[in-house]
Amino acid sequence: MSRLENNEANTLTTILWNGVWIYRNFYYKTVYHLKKNRKGVSFLKTLKEQVREKVLVYDGAKGVMLQRRGLKGGETSEYWNIIKPDVVKEVYALYKEAGSDVLQANTFPGNRAYLEKYQLGDKTYDINYMGVKLAKEVAGDSHFVAASVGATGEIFEPAGELTFETAYDVYKEQVNAIEAAGADCVNFETFSDIAEMRAAILAAKENTRQMIVASFSFEKNGRTLSGNSPEVCAIVSQALGAELVGASCSEGPAQLSGVIEKMYRVAKVPLVVKPNAGLPKVSEGKVIYEGSPEEFGTYTKTFLENGVRLIGGCCGSTPEYVCEIKKEVEQYKVGAFIPKEGITIASPYNYLVMDSGDYEIGLIDQNGLDLEKLLSTGDYQGIVDYALDLTGEGAQIIMLDFVQVKKGFDVKEFIVNMSLFIKQPVILKTEDKSLLEQFLRFYPGQAGVAAIFNGDGEMVSVVKHYGATLIKEEYIERNIIK
Ligand SMILES: [Zn+2]
Repeated sequence: MSRLENNEANTLTTILWNGVWIYRNFYYKTVYHLKKNRKGVSFLKTLKEQVREKVLVYDGAKGVMLQRRGLKGGETSEYWNIIKPDVVKEVYALYKEAGSDVLQANTFPGNRAYLEKYQLGDKTYDINYMGVKLAKEVAGDSHFVAASVGATGEIFEPAGELTFETAYDVYKEQVNAIEAAGADCVNFETFSDIAEMRAAILAAKENTRQMIVASFSFEKNGRTLSGNSPEVCAIVSQALGAELVGASCSEGPAQLSGVIEKMYRVAKVPLVVKPNAGLPKVSEGKVIYEGSPEEFGTYTKTFLENGVRLIGGCCGSTPEYVCEIKKEVEQYKVGAFIPKEGITIASPYNYLVMDSGDYEIGLIDQNGLDLEKLLSTGDYQGIVDYALDLTGEGAQIIMLDFVQVKKGFDVKEFIVNMSLFIKQPVILKTEDKSLLEQFLRFYPGQAGVAAIFNGDGEMVSVVKHYGATLIKEEYIERNIIK
């Protein structure tokens, strides 16, 4: 064979080999996984698409599993993502084996505000990144990874010290790490204040392209520690951009089934539930949970009937609980999630479905009291008292008409203080874009906005960004208390 022929043969071999290589890659990346996943989770559809079509099983507690593997009181579990990655992976693998479709990364609470208490603030990014990366290694292409993000544990302004801006920055850092590591979603969970959840959702929405999941924990009285009702939590979170809303932790499946039922009444997105393994109690110095895996599993049906499409366990639950959930999920065939209709507005405490009736509107404007002076001097009490008088007269909505207010004022300070006292949802009336933007950014509910800016795309896009609701002028005219 001449040198030339030899070269040609080499080229031909290279082409053939490249062909084999390309086919091999194609086979393993698509055909193989399609076959492998025909019965399970198809990697071709995103998590967001799948939870709208069917039920996925979440996993269980990380804490109890790591404690059994040597995690001591006073240690923070998410640090093990760095110092004991193999143990963390072992726990993920146990949940995968038990039937979880979605593995939750060991990143709870994982934010800087919390990690600083353990002198681990400077490791925030790495702890979160590694938590997700390890979970992805175990999940492979066939399973999803959700990154868990807990609340800061501090009290939000104005009742506490935590400001919206601080909370926003804390969550921004964490969601950036989670996204970089390739999580399928960020799950803000066990939040007890809608105001803090709003800061978290906005941090994810404005800085990443992550799918957002919002879950809250509830007290015995069926509300969050800050007094938010389940419906309000769902309405405000979904309006702001959460793709799944729900409840976690709390007092176990019995209590959370009541909470989920209420959320379902207003749910425009599928629900997620992750209850504790029953009520915790202390026995011989150890925290134990009352519910058995079998008993826990019996609540699955109720959850699925009430819009839940992602279901797992929180504190005290183990792979045995996930096995029970999986068994139950396989028994019940539930169809695609059907979103609830209805145009809503909500304060942090109450909500109204606007298209289901007329509600009386109490008006606060420059004609009724010297609003401009009260706002510019920071005399919010005068406004709150006036609003309370209006509610006494039967107002179900408070309308703040700022069109005649020309002097500047601290919009954020006004709105966060006012919303502590005025339990009714509000409608804002303004032509000022900066005022609208600030009001909607900090109002801890789903505000109504009087639709007086016909065709102004910029004003409408601010309203949309914050998930507020445009209210037609005719509706306001018809219902204002004269
Ligand atoms: Zn829990």
